[in-house]
Amino acid sequence: MPSPFANALAQLERAHAVQPIADELRLRLSQPQREIHAALSLRRDNGSLQLVQAYRVQHNNTRGPFKGGIRFHPKADLDEVRALAFWMTMKCAVLDLPLGGGKGGVTVDAKGLSDAERERLARAFARAFADVIGPHKDIPAPDVNTNAQVMDWMTDEYAHITGDASRATFTGKSLEQGGSEGREAATGQGGFFVFNALRERLGLPASCRVAIQGFGNVGEHAATIWHAAGHAIVALSDSKGTIVSADGLDPAAVLAHKHATGSVQGFPGSMDAPTDAILTQACDVLIPAALENQLRADNAPHVNARVVVELANGPTTPEADDMLYGRGVAVIPDILANAGGVTVSSFEWEQNLKNEHWAEADVNTRLQEKMSRAAGTVYERAQQLGTDLRRAAFVVALERLTGDLPK
Ligand code: NAD
Repeated sequence: MPSPFANALAQLERAHAVQPIADELRLRLSQPQREIHAALSLRRDNGSLQLVQAYRVQHNNTRGPFKGGIRFHPKADLDEVRALAFWMTMKCAVLDLPLGGGKGGVTVDAKGLSDAERERLARAFARAFADVIGPHKDIPAPDVNTNAQVMDWMTDEYAHITGDASRATFTGKSLEQGGSEGREAATGQGGFFVFNALRERLGLPASCRVAIQGFGNVGEHAATIWHAAGHAIVALSDSKGTIVSADGLDPAAVLAHKHATGSVQGFPGSMDAPTDAILTQACDVLIPAALENQLRADNAPHVNARVVVELANGPTTPEADDMLYGRGVAVIPDILANAGGVTVSSFEWEQNLKNEHWAEADVNTRLQEKMSRAAGTVYERAQQLGTDLRRAAFVVALERLTGDLPK
């Protein structure tokens, strides 16, 4: 598999080729400002002690405190966390948020942990990194295999250690613990606002056939939101397999089936297909919402969609980008398409610091405004430069980052 950080740096160079970036900015972005590694002590339910590797990468804070999720995954490693932190720097700049880029990773099989073990691990993470995070330093959030409950545990542990009662050090918390309305659905919702802002310009019909890879937090909400807006969800997948239905799937019913059986597979009235079959389904819109490196040189020629909306981070390699662009398949890049999560996280952070609680309609109006504006800016930049949306989004971000280097 290609290294995600090598892909991220290749994307930077490709943007530089269409709109030159100052050498000093390229140099600064080529390495994170700081990387912290910890070996967490995890007491297992059977009494044994396990050391679990954990990372926090602080890529860049010239526009504001570092910001980015924490991933629990057996394959999480420093290279992946570096790439994810880099993309956060770019994403916050594309959305013009007063935040920088960071990310956390814990190398663990999260699905093999009991709730009690997950809580001990979450608290161990907060203790290990308490010195380097904080409401004005670095603000983590959920990512793959972490959720509001994990953020609540970390928030509680951090408050015990530091006495900080603002709850502004973590976002993506439960509503009871200072979370924001609309945060859980925000990545899917924000992606939908971007899609809506660009749909006609990308030549898509009013009612699209949609295929979604990954049925976790982001994929479930995306399916629900696109379905409610009158689009047909013709295929869905999780790590165990794909389901296909030309008539369209009801996401709420698929979710109930997944809760009952552990997978989307075997959903009544649909056809089962192999896991990777999702990527080559005939559809108008393909939404990767799982992990990196899903669309590569080997499968990009078989993508049968008109537009790819990247709700996952890093799902498309640079080689696949060129193949898709060459075939007229538009890719709405991760640093724009999935920025709804960090945008509502920034709203949550602001609410915590001001001790406010905004209504859901308010949150979604602000989200729509920010996502639509960013989508329009990136699209117009792509037209001006005669390039793809990813390079254009990088150019928009880099122009905002320029000028913030030390004298
Ligand atoms: P999650 O853990 O809730 O869900 C991940 C889903 O992907 C699960 O359904 C899993 O079964 C599935 N999956 C894993 N490997 C797969 C494969 N090979 N094929 C099909 N499905 C597979 O994680 P999430 O929070 O939904 O994150 C998904 C993606 O969205 C990640 O790339 C993450 O970085 C990105 N993202 C998340 C947020 C957020 O707020 N949670 C924000 C922005 C971006």
